[in-house]
Amino acid sequence: MKDKQKQRSLEDIPEALRDIPISPSSPSSFNPQWIMVGLAGVIMVMLAIFGIMRLVSSPSATNTASVEPSPSPPPTPEPETVENILGHLPYEEADPSQLKAITNDGRIKLRTKAANNFLQMQRDARASGIILTPISGFRTVKEQEYLFFEIKRQRNQDTRKRAEVSAPPNYSEHHTGYAIDIGDGRVPATNLSEKFEQTPAFRWLENNAAKYSFELSFPPNNPQGISYEPWHWRYVGDADSLKTFYEAQQLENRSSFEENTVN
Ligand SMILES: [Zn+2]
Repeated sequence: MKDKQKQRSLEDIPEALRDIPISPSSPSSFNPQWIMVGLAGVIMVMLAIFGIMRLVSSPSATNTASVEPSPSPPPTPEPETVENILGHLPYEEADPSQLKAITNDGRIKLRTKAANNFLQMQRDARASGIILTPISGFRTVKEQEYLFFEIKRQRNQDTRKRAEVSAPPNYSEHHTGYAIDIGDGRVPATNLSEKFEQTPAFRWLENNAAKYSFELSFPPNNPQGISYEPWHWRYVGDADSLKTFYEAQQLENRSSFEENTVN
């Protein structure tokens, strides 16, 4: 019955109008269902915008780590031993042609300027009754390799302990030809020992070495964390030597080197 009625009602429409599609402006567009659908759409869009804004403005737990740097210091992954070894700074080996012997047998050498200043200093000290004995000057990387690893083995030292008293190869100031270990000729028992600081030679050096452009490399509590070495002096009397020692330190400071103390 209903179908028949529908058909009939369709037949009631004049044939010319039957195929005209119902336009959106036709009264049927005010159907409340459409309004509901529209409202739902608007609400969904607003919810989506709100969600995006929340994500951007208040960082969630996952994006805090990647976007905002945390106020706490970053973790230092290096193990203690590596840090300690790196307390020593890397140095290039001097060219043999730049070296001059400071002993009669020619075994101990320094860069020419450092050598001349040391010889002058030695003469002046002797005039005051002080005997400055050179123990060690320029050293090749190969020689340092022996000193570090072979003595470490003989003394059964672990790497950290060894690095407190000896630079690893490539990390010794002695490679530069500007560094010298000095002993007191009258008290040789204090050679390469902290007791050297009680000798007249050390006291004389403390008061006079700067005049010859020598300075103590590793004073007590030095920022490199290397054991106090009252016998180890370095020449800093020209641009090249200054650059060698102070640029190395700056580079090291820049690359996140932190003061590192030996306890
Ligand atoms: Zn030394």
